[in-house]
Amino acid sequence: MTRPIIDPHFGIDLDRLTAFLSASDQVVCLTGAGCSLASGIPTYRTENGDWQGRNTINHQDFLEAFETRQRYWARSFMGWPLMSNAQPNPAHRALTELVTLGKIKTLITQNVDSLHEQAGLTDVQHLHGDLTEVTCLVCGASEPRIQLQTRLADLNTHLELDGEIKPDGDAEISPEVIQQFKIAHCLLCGGTLKPNVVFFGGRVNPALVQSIYHAIEQADALWVIGSSLKLFSGYRFCRHALAFGKPIALLNPGWTRADPIATLKIVQPAEIILPAVLDRLANLP
Ligand SMILES: [Zn+2]
Repeated sequence: MTRPIIDPHFGIDLDRLTAFLSASDQVVCLTGAGCSLASGIPTYRTENGDWQGRNTINHQDFLEAFETRQRYWARSFMGWPLMSNAQPNPAHRALTELVTLGKIKTLITQNVDSLHEQAGLTDVQHLHGDLTEVTCLVCGASEPRIQLQTRLADLNTHLELDGEIKPDGDAEISPEVIQQFKIAHCLLCGGTLKPNVVFFGGRVNPALVQSIYHAIEQADALWVIGSSLKLFSGYRFCRHALAFGKPIALLNPGWTRADPIATLKIVQPAEIILPAVLDRLANLP
């Protein structure tokens, strides 16, 4: 007979996280790839925060180089079924409840999936954009990504595609296949299409950053879930919280860049501990 493996720290972590949230009525929450991991979308980074992907798309390269766009769209086309079929996991559902209860007043995500929305949230701030639409860089027209998938499929019936999925909806496929991949253009003007996501080297919407800074200043605490915060785009919010004397809680199974400045660090998977925390908070005397 096998016995269940019980993490001896889990109960202590649950107590500490529940206490942190009990003491805060207005929490700003930032979620990262670790939140979507249990939905089958792999994370960018290992537990040490190291980069896992080999084919990072650079913003400037995407704008300037056809080969980069071809590589992006070939991999994006391959990864789309996994991305579009992913379902929210218990972490997303617990976070929806915490927003509904008023505990979380602002929810920001670094994820480009729509799993928070699928779990019932309507006001999610996407720091790095999301994959629902693409935009023409010439005329500004938008097209649903799901429609573009059909167009890409029609253009590429000559290819046999198979690969492994990356978190931004990319897949790992051979250079030969990428070279043969035909990319789609704007239906109105034939211009270059770009997904509404922030690539590396791209700029996060400055107005969004300012609004998040403001929300942190008004909040009781900042809570980061499932991110190593290795990128400055997310880490800056921890710096801002620190500057304004707001406590910072981190929930991540591995290292994060904000570990030295955190008030509380919990090393647990989000989809396990969040439902338990919600249950505790709902049953507090
Ligand atoms: Zn156009």
